Amino acid sequence: MGSVPIFPMAAYPLLFRPLDLGFVTLPNRILMGSMHTGLEARPDGMDRLAAFYAERARGGAALIVTGGFSPNDAGELSPHRAQMSAKQDAERHKVIPRAVHDAGGRIVLQVLHSGRYGFHKNVVAPSPVKSAINPNSPREMGEAEIRQTIAEFAASAALAREAGYDGVEVMGSEGYLLSQFLAQRVNQRQDQWGGSLENRMRFPVEVVRATRAAAGADFIIVYRISALELVEGGLSAAEIAAVAKGIEQAGATLLNTGIGWHEAKIPTIAQAVPRGGFAWATRNLKQAVKIPVIASNRINAPEVAEEILARGDADMVSLARAFLADEAFANKAKAGDRAGINICIACNQACLDHYFIGQPASCVVNPRAGRETKLVFRPVTTRKRVAVVGGGPAGLSCAAVAAERGHEVVLFDKAAELGGQFNLAKKIPGKQEFAESVAYYAERIRRAGAKVVLGHSPTEAELAQFDEVVLATGIDPRKPAIPGIGHKSVVGYVDLLSGRVEPGRNVVVIGAGGIGFDVAIYLLERNARATLDPDEFAQHWGIVHDRAAPGGLDAKGFPPAHPAHRITMLKRSATPFGATLGRTTGWVHRAELARNGVQMIKGVEYRRIDDAGVHVAFDGKESAIPADTVVICAGQEPLRPLAAKHLIGGAKEAGELDAKRAMLEGAELAAAL
Ligand code: FAD
Ligand code: NAP
Ligand code: SF4
Repeated sequence: MGSVPIFPMAAYPLLFRPLDLGFVTLPNRILMGSMHTGLEARPDGMDRLAAFYAERARGGAALIVTGGFSPNDAGELSPHRAQMSAKQDAERHKVIPRAVHDAGGRIVLQVLHSGRYGFHKNVVAPSPVKSAINPNSPREMGEAEIRQTIAEFAASAALAREAGYDGVEVMGSEGYLLSQFLAQRVNQRQDQWGGSLENRMRFPVEVVRATRAAAGADFIIVYRISALELVEGGLSAAEIAAVAKGIEQAGATLLNTGIGWHEAKIPTIAQAVPRGGFAWATRNLKQAVKIPVIASNRINAPEVAEEILARGDADMVSLARAFLADEAFANKAKAGDRAGINICIACNQACLDHYFIGQPASCVVNPRAGRETKLVFRPVTTRKRVAVVGGGPAGLSCAAVAAERGHEVVLFDKAAELGGQFNLAKKIPGKQEFAESVAYYAERIRRAGAKVVLGHSPTEAELAQFDEVVLATGIDPRKPAIPGIGHKSVVGYVDLLSGRVEPGRNVVVIGAGGIGFDVAIYLLERNARATLDPDEFAQHWGIVHDRAAPGGLDAKGFPPAHPAHRITMLKRSATPFGATLGRTTGWVHRAELARNGVQMIKGVEYRRIDDAGVHVAFDGKESAIPADTVVICAGQEPLRPLAAKHLIGGAKEAGELDAKRAMLEGAELAAAL
């Protein structure tokens, strides 16, 4: 009798159940969701995208969705041509599905018509209703143009098939053209495309029907539906369920979900959103249709995904940024290697923020993302002894890559734990996940066999025995020369965030960069919303589960705030407050502070600090702002306690320093050592 094979129990059994779509079976329940990579319209974009997606297919994603490609000129997001509308587009794209298939994966092309969100002159919409987030006014689509656009969606799918894609995703959420037809806030037509819900859903339903007819029965059609609109006059949950049924009947294979229109005033993917915080909204769709439904937004860890499946909220999960942070997310989860997964911390700094400044997407915690062909870590030919002094983001990144390449690495930190300023950042409500990055890099360093020496500042004599010395010692907080800076009310942000001082009721924050804003959020929310609970989050932002509520919003708006501190933020420059914050996340911080009545005064001259508070001059007047506590957040200076050949992160340059630069510099230097 042969021995019984022993299979290790799967760590996430539901996540790794195959999904039978009838004509094809996906190996697991993980979809890599669509992301704007900024490569779509570049001359070398197709080759770089092929390498980017192939790495993620090798990493175990069951199905990949590309960034958005328009079916015609009017549907472009920007004037740079990113379309699937002609034979030469299909030809150009062929390299992408070929690379993904060679890597053992499957990929669908997202067909996206921007409607009134297009940043060009030929913007169209169901009705000429301008969006608050676009200076361009749309013109109303005529009957013939609507018919033509439906045909162009279908043609796009046929071209995608010709290019070798396994299917398409029809983008029907986030406030793009299909959402605009569905919602009365933009669709004010009186013809067969407007008015009743049946009429308003005619356009998306016809798009799916025509797509199915053009692409054939054995072609995956994912439809991305808005599970929650989060805008005034948006669809209710009951209406969304009706739309889902119509889309299913028209021939969709899978229903993927989107949360909120881009113009929603509620965060949908930022750090303020709890992990898996919107999955509950997908259950509404699951109850409405028989085709598999995919949950999305802030699903960044396998246990979160498994729980969503276990609760029955969805049949599959969509992870997008999680695959920027770790291309092998799915394989590692399958192997039960949770500690080996680089978790996306939802900062948007190197992905979505890059898109808006025309740079290709990358990732703060994984600088190789989007640089697959450029930042290559080759095994070393000559093994060197490398000392890395400082275990913040720069030093962690450098030590991990250098050790993995084969160098003998010793990482020193004078603190008792690795992480540098990330150990302060993780105290900020919403930034708790920064601890994940520290744990992940520490694990990589351990696995690569590097030695870590904590609680020790090495001397130059000690470092003389190394072939290479890297200084990653970070920064010193700046102490501005304001008279009275030594007053008992004055504290540094390090003291405050370390919990060494208890702030009083009236707090003045000097400096309004990223840290000034974080300190204000910390003061306001550390006791009130310290946990990231989906129900608390929904309550905080006025989101309701009522199936009849338009947009899923509470008609009463946001609940009133009860701030524990009266905060005043000051800065000398005249630029708007929050101008240095993340492009796609800064508004969340500004909205929170406004809700809590934080006073912001710019263009001030600091006169002195004394028992009466902080004396400032602005607008030609002098006044004293009462302060029980004054928190200094006035930027930083480089900290260079030793001489060294290589400087990275804050030790190299403190101005404009962030973790993105620190980690990239660490990885780039380590690749070259
Ligand atoms: P550091 O993180 O400062 O690390 C330096 C390390 O060197 C420390 O561990 C220190 O103990 C060690 N060291 C110093 N001297 C010695 C010595 N002589 N011997 C041995 N070890 C030594 N950035 C973002 O990109 N996004 C954010 O959202 C964000 N939020 C932040 C929130 C807060 C509250 C703070 C404080 C910072 C935030 N930052 C953020 C900034 C980010 O943390 C820094 O840019 C980053 O940590 C800089 O990395 P670094 O490795 O250069 O320096
Ligand atoms: P920062 O963004 O450079 O802001 C420093 C602030 O201090 C400015 O408001 C500046 O404003 C003021 N200041 C500078 N010199 C001063 C002086 N001599 N006297 C009084 N005020 C002075 O630096 P930070 O807030 O310390 O943040 C450090 C880095 O961490 C940032 O570069 C940022 O990228 C990163 N970070 C990012 C985030 C994020 O959410 N992405 C969050 C936290 C930190 P005035 O000159 O107008 O007075
Ligand atoms: Fe996630 Fe930030 Fe990386 Fe974007 S840059 S993928 S949000 S960790």
